[in-house]
Amino acid sequence: RAQSDGRSRVRFFEPDIDIHVERRINIERELRSAIAADIIEPHYQPVVSLESNRIVGFEALARWENRTLGHIPPDVFIPIAEETGLINALGDQVFRRACLDATAWPKTFSLAFNISPVQLRDSALGGRIISILEQTGFSPCRLEIEITESAFVERNGAAKTVIDELRQAGVRIALDDFGTAYATLSQLLSFRLDRIKIDRSFVSHLDESTDSRVIVRAILDIAKGFGLRTTAEGVEDEGQLVYLVANGCTEGQGYLFSGPVQATGIPALLDRQARRGPVTEDGARNLH
Ligand code: C2E
Ligand code: MG
Ligand code: MG
Ligand code: MG
Repeated sequence: RAQSDGRSRVRFFEPDIDIHVERRINIERELRSAIAADIIEPHYQPVVSLESNRIVGFEALARWENRTLGHIPPDVFIPIAEETGLINALGDQVFRRACLDATAWPKTFSLAFNISPVQLRDSALGGRIISILEQTGFSPCRLEIEITESAFVERNGAAKTVIDELRQAGVRIALDDFGTAYATLSQLLSFRLDRIKIDRSFVSHLDESTDSRVIVRAILDIAKGFGLRTTAEGVEDEGQLVYLVANGCTEGQGYLFSGPVQATGIPALLDRQARRGPVTEDGARNLH
């Protein structure tokens, strides 16, 4: 009896595993050809100043639409790119495209670009970023690199070398998803940062969680004490915005303002802001 149970269990799980493995192999194969064809493109989410209520820049977010697999989110394909060593080619490609797109924006706008901890293990990364900036003519002073906490914990990575090199060139550094990993404050402070991005998990619970409110206020206080700017991620409603403004958060991103848009959608977004003020679709909040 026990034996037959065991067998049926095996039979039950095997197809599942096969599907998983097969999908993963498909994604990897399609990812290689997507990179070869340069079809993974950045979309752009506005970064809004909570002081002026105006767009001050955009964060590039990689988007991949595949003929047969459909939309594949970066949380799925970035880790696969990392495991297969495709991340350098992919990162460089998306960054080059973002720099070219960003040269069309108002000169005061910044471009934020995500770099994963795995990318930061490569000591040649800084040089490649700087040469792409030179080739595209995009100013390093308008670039902000977003790095997650785990990059600051890695012992044998090249993170510090790369970050120093980029800072030297005038690039700013933001700490992404702050509060979600296990870096100590002293590890973080051993790097020179320009900005802390407060993770969406805290922002989205501001309305109903006292803990989240206490944590967010503490992060804003620490950042202020060290002279760092702050971006709240995932701002979705008015109540969250009010709390963030009251506690001195300097910038915000989220669906309340706008989700990520295609490069071709940016002029319309700026035009709407110029004509009507609000960045929000429904005009509920008059951004200016
Ligand atoms: P991230 O850098 O923390 O980006 C923020 C994510 O939150 C994005 O998801 C964005 O679309 C989403 N988001 C923004 N506002 C809201 C909101 O109000 N509500 C909700 N629910 N979500 C919001 P996305 O585009 O799926 O990116 C996921 C992660 O993938 C990014 O997190 C980043 O770590 C990584 N990623 C994206 N593009 C790249 C890239 O070009 N290179 C690297 N290395 N990583 C990238
Ligand atoms: Mg980011
Ligand atoms: Mg983030
Ligand atoms: Mg993230």
